[in-house]
Amino acid sequence: MERIDSELISSFVSLVKNSLKSIVLVPHTNPDGDAMGSVLGLRRVLLNAGLKVKIVSPTKYPEFYHWMDGHDEVIVYSHHPKQAASALAESDLLICLDFNQLSRLGDMKPLIESFEGKKILIDHHPYPGNFTDLVISDTTFSSTAELMFSVLQPTEFAQYIDRDAATSFFTGIMTDTGSFDFSVSNPNTFETVAQLTRMGIDQMYIHSKVYDNYSYDRMRLLGFCLSNRMTFFPEYHAACMYITLEDQKAFNFKTGDNEGFVNMPLSIKGIVFSALFTEKSKYIKASFRSKGEFAVNEVSEKYFNGGGHRNAAGGEFYASLSETLALFEKLLPEFNDRIKKSIE
Ligand code: 5GP
Ligand code: MN
Repeated sequence: MERIDSELISSFVSLVKNSLKSIVLVPHTNPDGDAMGSVLGLRRVLLNAGLKVKIVSPTKYPEFYHWMDGHDEVIVYSHHPKQAASALAESDLLICLDFNQLSRLGDMKPLIESFEGKKILIDHHPYPGNFTDLVISDTTFSSTAELMFSVLQPTEFAQYIDRDAATSFFTGIMTDTGSFDFSVSNPNTFETVAQLTRMGIDQMYIHSKVYDNYSYDRMRLLGFCLSNRMTFFPEYHAACMYITLEDQKAFNFKTGDNEGFVNMPLSIKGIVFSALFTEKSKYIKASFRSKGEFAVNEVSEKYFNGGGHRNAAGGEFYASLSETLALFEKLLPEFNDRIKKSIE
């Protein structure tokens, strides 16, 4: 297991200080709250330190993160590829946050691969790739946002963490832990939150902005999926849900509308393994969640071209929805023993 140390933190500081042009921050494709919280928080800190910073996101991200500081300045590659390319051309330092494989950049991968400046990776997923000059990777952190805060804290940049930056970092921690429901085995998470609270964040406001934000269609889609798109496998302590392209049309689906749906079956007594399959035009987006010992990243890596954490993983699967659902049902017996360990 990799751990952060003062040498890595000093290397981070010197790479940032040696940058003479602008610094580009990059989250993964379909960024979540942690990816956006990390890039937006770091952007604010570096701007406060007088540096030039841009964020280039591979794709759009859910509207319930649009209230965050710096959202208006984010360049979305899938919508503005030329602007994204020129931001990179004007930069000599790239910082990749909340992912550790180039494949997580989707169509933006070639642009990042051909970038000629220095690259830094800051992330909390297992098995980091080797595509940057500096790798700051530590799986003991709940979120990249928590790791980012811990990297900045002992440096001269700490003085530039203001309320806006703290709010972004808190958003990352809150969303990646499902509001402190999972991935919080390390007391550092709560110590970080204590420090962010001292910086004046409004925890109730942030929570409400992110979670009390359903459109009428989104709430009805959730109800529809729970009633009509869930298969229950009590013998395997598992459940799966799916959303077809037609369902998405019927409920006026927007990016992020399915976020959190995969957690719902885990509230059923005895269920420790949950999957959500969302049909996309070219592939099926798979999401997995588990409780306890059972590692869903193993399922995702082996069968769904993905990865992630022990209790939250995902992937992109190139098959039809019916083939995907059939595969899910077929693989359950293979994981039976490991699933059962989560029950004990
Ligand atoms: P979600 O289900 O919320 O999309 O993703 C949960 C976690 O699974 C993410 O934080 C990320 O670690 C991982 N993940 C999701 N999709 C992919 C994917 O396509 N590839 C890989 N390697 N990891 C993924
Ligand atoms: Mn994360």
